[in-house]
Amino acid sequence: MFPWGDERRFNSYSRFCKAHYGGRIQRLPVDAGFSCPNRVSRTEGGCTYCANVAFSPSYLSDNESVVSQLENGKRFFEKRYPCNNGYFAYFQSYTNTFAPLRVLCEKYEAALTVSEVKGIIVSTRPDCLSESVLDYFSELKNRTELCVEVGVESFHNETLEHIHRGHTVECVFEAFHRLKERNIPACAHLIFGLPGEKPEQWLSDVKMLNELRPQFVKFHQLQIFKGTPMEVEFATSPERFHTLTVEEYVAFICDYLENLSAEIVVERFSAEAPPRFLSVSRWNLLRHDALVRKIEEELERRGGWQGSVMQNR
Ligand code: SF4
Repeated sequence: MFPWGDERRFNSYSRFCKAHYGGRIQRLPVDAGFSCPNRVSRTEGGCTYCANVAFSPSYLSDNESVVSQLENGKRFFEKRYPCNNGYFAYFQSYTNTFAPLRVLCEKYEAALTVSEVKGIIVSTRPDCLSESVLDYFSELKNRTELCVEVGVESFHNETLEHIHRGHTVECVFEAFHRLKERNIPACAHLIFGLPGEKPEQWLSDVKMLNELRPQFVKFHQLQIFKGTPMEVEFATSPERFHTLTVEEYVAFICDYLENLSAEIVVERFSAEAPPRFLSVSRWNLLRHDALVRKIEEELERRGGWQGSVMQNR
């Protein structure tokens, strides 16, 4: 039995859901029609890898109300992944706190009227969490499940500047501090493979993640999407990109997990955008659950688990 209370070698989101909700909760992506401050008000035109369309299910349309998107999502998922424990409305597209508070409340509260929706997940940027939004979240979390997913992406200001993220690492720490002050559950989203960075660097950055101490974390390998400035950069300066094979990624993730605080719940290890959006596809459609199996096999082979290196220090 590991510190989080089950036999798996990492603190998994499925364990968390089972303990808190009795089992798996299906996320229903919602496009609430928001934009992103990094795309509309900055000269650089957004993050160089940004391709929101690649992450939006085909049945989603921002022309439809939040309620009707959620009802469509329920119909879509109940055939594929029957799930009796309910749903989370996942405000995923663009920056979901980038609107006047009145508009945000309208959209979030509409989601909560849908039957079997147990809570909401709000994806956003660290520089887009106003005091009034945080105050509203403080109240909201007392009457529903809530998680704020914050794009951290890199712990290096040089990288953040290079990819036009439009915020700094200090801003990330400030955002998590303000969320923590209010006890608002938060998830950190990180990308491995951004230009100019190397695996040794990511591994040493795990200290920063432990310091940030989000309740949840999501890891993604870098995906390069068609039509983005990053696609051009990859074509012209491939030497700036350190891309890993599946085997290398598995070994790296195991090293990372062994150094990661056992308290942080890991939601994902990789992203799975449809191949038609990808400029470079290296992993031959490896599904997330297959990757997780490989990671767990490797942890077992080496006798490691999440936080095992920290514990033995
Ligand atoms: S913050 Fe998100 S939506 Fe905004 S430009 Fe970057 S990747 Fe795109």
